[in-house]
Amino acid sequence: MYTYYIGIGSNLGDREVYLAFAVSELTNTDGVHSVSHSSWIETPPWGPVEQGPFLNGILKVESTLTPLVMLDTILHIERLAGRQREIHWGPRTLDLDIVWIEDEFGHPVRVTEATLVVPHPYFWERQFVLEPLQEVYPTFTYEGVSIDSRLEALRIVEA
Ligand code: AMP
Repeated sequence: MYTYYIGIGSNLGDREVYLAFAVSELTNTDGVHSVSHSSWIETPPWGPVEQGPFLNGILKVESTLTPLVMLDTILHIERLAGRQREIHWGPRTLDLDIVWIEDEFGHPVRVTEATLVVPHPYFWERQFVLEPLQEVYPTFTYEGVSIDSRLEALRIVEA
């Protein structure tokens, strides 16, 4: 059994409906035992493309699916939500990223495949990932640093 922490975001159309859709699709996937999630937080868009604000959160998913099968599953759900990949970093109906994985002993699972890199390469830099992650996983630490102190450091830099 794995515990997946999956970043979720939407900034196009009825954002809450897309997030709820992803939760419901994952919940109904064979091999997925439970899905819970953080609050949804509104965050300003990032990157070079002008676009509307995102609704972001973190899903906590208990599942026997292996990481590459979980990746296929979330890409399929993105497609079902009608996501089109025309503009890199542009607006999207639904974006799902595997941020962090633990095995049944609570040990981190690292993946370095052509199609999947976990931990997600930018997760430790992004407040919109770490804030909801802190809510679902308050004792999270990465390379010896607690999520509380990391968020504090990011907020100081931003201020
Ligand atoms: P993006 O559209 O920017 O979210 O990128 C999606 C692509 O990134 C997918 O087709 C995956 O093959 C690849 N990818 C690499 N690592 C991850 C990850 N940790 N979570 C989700 N997608 C990933």
